[in-house]
Amino acid sequence: MSHSKETKPHAVLTPFPVQGHINPLIKLAKLLHLRGFHITFVNTEYNHKRLLKSWGPNALNGLPDFHFETIPDGLPPMDDNDADVTQDVFSLFDSTRKNFLIPFQNLLARLNDSASNGIIPPVSCLVSDGSMTFTIQAAEELGIPIVLLWPASAFSLLSVMHLRTLVDQGVIPLKDESYLTNGYLDTKVDWIPGMQNFRLKDLIDYIRTTDPNDFLVKCHIEMADRIQRASAFVFNTCLELESDAMNALSSMFPSLYTIGPFPSFFKQIPQNHLASLGSSLWKEDIECLEWLESKQPRSVVYVNFGSITVMSPEQLLEFAWGLANSKKPFLWIIRPDLVIGGSVILSSEFVNETRDRGLVAKWCPQEKVLNHPSIGGFLTHCGWNSTTESVCAGVPMLCWPFFADQPTNCRYICNEWGIGMEIDSNVKREEVEKLVNELMEGEKGKKMRQKVIELKKKAEEDTRVGGSSYMNLDKVIKEVLLKQ
Ligand code: UDP
Repeated sequence: MSHSKETKPHAVLTPFPVQGHINPLIKLAKLLHLRGFHITFVNTEYNHKRLLKSWGPNALNGLPDFHFETIPDGLPPMDDNDADVTQDVFSLFDSTRKNFLIPFQNLLARLNDSASNGIIPPVSCLVSDGSMTFTIQAAEELGIPIVLLWPASAFSLLSVMHLRTLVDQGVIPLKDESYLTNGYLDTKVDWIPGMQNFRLKDLIDYIRTTDPNDFLVKCHIEMADRIQRASAFVFNTCLELESDAMNALSSMFPSLYTIGPFPSFFKQIPQNHLASLGSSLWKEDIECLEWLESKQPRSVVYVNFGSITVMSPEQLLEFAWGLANSKKPFLWIIRPDLVIGGSVILSSEFVNETRDRGLVAKWCPQEKVLNHPSIGGFLTHCGWNSTTESVCAGVPMLCWPFFADQPTNCRYICNEWGIGMEIDSNVKREEVEKLVNELMEGEKGKKMRQKVIELKKKAEEDTRVGGSSYMNLDKVIKEVLLKQ
């Protein structure tokens, strides 16, 4: 297939259908669009409906060379009243493996039909989330290149690539539940190249299982095999952050490119390209930005646990009173489904106590919040997007990792980069109060702020014209996506 001046290359992008995977892929779609690609972005029908609800009925149409398509997610239909609820990630994971290939192949056939009528360019490459491995088969059948984006840290992929060895060595499954708490997870795993000083508890948390047939472990071992068939792998990271992991991974994959961090990439684009094409599945509360205007520089603690983390009502209370007792201003995003087993109830005592310095909202434009001068620290669950967004905004962190790659990210934030402090999983209000104060006005907080600002600058160098991530994006386009 040749790309004449008239025929643009056409990339079809398919995220894993949850917020933390849609966001980086839509950013990559925008970067490719900026470099002249015709883009088709494939959401599930359920997520498409949510995006329309959050952004208005016309938000996702009107661009001739950047359009959205949908495929069903194969899960039982949700009630419209539940449309603000995070779908069950494990069921989604299962369904992507079983139900997505055929509708996806049908979609590609339809797109190529339209291309033969001259309406759009023929599909010339696929760019998919690393866990949407069914798209590799679709690309192979069409004989076109496929690039996978790993939306989490490179270190987490390194964990995934070693799951099989951990099973073979008898490390997982754990012998019994007591191994979760008896100190076993503190065992060093110094035999994984690129992961010096790591303990079992710092690896992807799928290892915390006693089930010899654990679904996630099996799926990820299968994934580790399949992804090696992709034409190339790209990462929302830069060498400054993860050179050890990238070096270790390069012995396993022939074609790897660091092309991030995306937030920093976008800061360098003069007019934030396609800024109006939002990807939040929840409606953003923009009033919190006005509220931040009324606060002193670097005075506010921003608290947000992302799109999937849940906690018990007791844990919510510990965070609430830790924040209240710290006496620091805070912006706390409490998703409608954050608390297990019911709605969020904050006592009137807490509300009265924090009325003059706290704001609670359901969802916010996180990158804008993190970049607001009033923000001084971020209490986060350490999702990879939140981590990179915080680094790119120069904001130090308090970490309460929840699952998946988050323990690995936390390890990096706190121990390798020195830009955060960890809160015990068994959270207590006294610890929250103490660490919030240390973060916002202690000596440690000051040092972490200096370090994160240095990292921010380095990430900017990597994503600037001529920087390694910038050049890698050009390279992957030329060497892989445009390859005939
Ligand atoms: N996010 C947002 N507003 C919120 C909460 C989260 O825009 O109130 C965005 C955040 O900026 C990030 C993504 O949702 O891009 C969450 O991804 P992350 O990897 O941090 O965590 P996950 O939700 O996957 O656990």
